[in-house]
Amino acid sequence: MTKIIALTNQKGGVGKTTTAVNLAASLAALDRRVLLVDLDPQGHATMGSGVDKHELDGSVLDVVLGERRPSEVILDCPEAGYALLPGNGDLTAAEVELLDRDEDRERSLAKALEELDGEYDAVLIDCPPSLNMLTVNGLTAAHGVLIPLQCEFYALEGLSALLDTVEQIKDSVNPRLDILGILRTMYDSRNSLTRDVSKQLRDYFGDALLKTTIPRNVRVAEAPSHGLPVTKYARFSRGSQAHRVLAKELIRRLSL
Ligand code: ADP
Ligand code: MG
Repeated sequence: MTKIIALTNQKGGVGKTTTAVNLAASLAALDRRVLLVDLDPQGHATMGSGVDKHELDGSVLDVVLGERRPSEVILDCPEAGYALLPGNGDLTAAEVELLDRDEDRERSLAKALEELDGEYDAVLIDCPPSLNMLTVNGLTAAHGVLIPLQCEFYALEGLSALLDTVEQIKDSVNPRLDILGILRTMYDSRNSLTRDVSKQLRDYFGDALLKTTIPRNVRVAEAPSHGLPVTKYARFSRGSQAHRVLAKELIRRLSL
């Protein structure tokens, strides 16, 4: 069965896209069939996968609006090892168009992805940095949420709004929605604030706090400008290794 995972945090710059791209590549390297969905108008997951967001023939927008089927728009990223449902700035139109609809506006993406069931082991959805209609579509399509965050003073602020949104979607349109994991990114264990925030996260989330942490690593930051996941750009870097360990932890946890 396909596991659909939404990477969500309405805060920008916490490592959603970085995790989505590198986790997709790491799962693919472990022989999992992976689809990465770029649901952010910034199109960073698309660019980071080596695809020019300005030159798309079709995008996830067409799929969300029900104008094209996913299989017509999905691109193969042979170097990265996964398939991509690309996105770009056109997605900003989705917000307005979806809000105009009366029926099933939360379920557009979920419905479109139904036809892919069984084709992939994992579908990773890179959500935009807000709790808008696109994110709601991502959460409605997903089995669970992976929440990347940085262990800083403001990390927990805003998390309750996200958890409320998850609860609301669970109660209304997607009862299966679960918190699959809290991922600490750009992690620096020498920092005492990091340890304090980690303790708070462990107290609150218990087992949902993933054991794997992703260190701050310059190779991770450089990789997107080469259109490659860090696991291909700098295989032996600490950032690359951490993403592989993360993939293994999620494979075990989620039976991927
Ligand atoms: P989001 O998608 O949540 O907005 P990004 O994944 O785009 O966040 O990350 C924000 C910035 O931080 C990017 O410039 C990215 O290259 C950098 N970054 C993310 N993770 C790491 C890391 N582990 N080490 C170094 N830089 C990172
Ligand atoms: Mg992003």
